[in-house]
Amino acid sequence: MKYITKSEKETFELSQKFAGKLAGGEVLCLIGDLGAGKTAFIKGLAKGLNVKNIITSPTFVLLKPYLAKLKNIYKLVHIDAYRLDSGAELDYIGAEEYFKDENCVTVIEWADKVRDVWPKKAIQIKFKILKGDKREINIFN
Ligand code: ADP
Ligand code: MG
Repeated sequence: MKYITKSEKETFELSQKFAGKLAGGEVLCLIGDLGAGKTAFIKGLAKGLNVKNIITSPTFVLLKPYLAKLKNIYKLVHIDAYRLDSGAELDYIGAEEYFKDENCVTVIEWADKVRDVWPKKAIQIKFKILKGDKREINIFN
């Protein structure tokens, strides 16, 4: 499904709503250039999953779990693959356990860098910068 948002707030609201459709066990693979709105999307997702902590994305933190609470979803795991060039390191730190966890939603920023570890069920989400504050967000599910 393709969406156009016209502000960061609209992107936030889109993902907040999208969170309500999740059941747990999803792995969301976000792709898009710097400033395309990936982190903004994750912040809305976190809000929608009732995460109380603030989502930060320092690139030196590879994986960060948050407590969530929506239906059977108790965890939101944020992976930032920016500085990786394969999924080997994710394998090493056991990211696959989170991918398999039905009570967890995993979201991977810069997911194109770790395509080798995408699970079959991965939901690809592509971000494109259009003119000004417009962003095209494509959710392939
Ligand atoms: P990424 O994580 O993809 O690098 P961020 O979410 O960190 O991107 O940053 C997006 C930047 O673009 C922010 O500064 C935000 O204010 C701005 N922005 C402008 N329009 C939008 C929009 N429609 N959706 C999301 N962010 C937007
Ligand atoms: Mg980001």
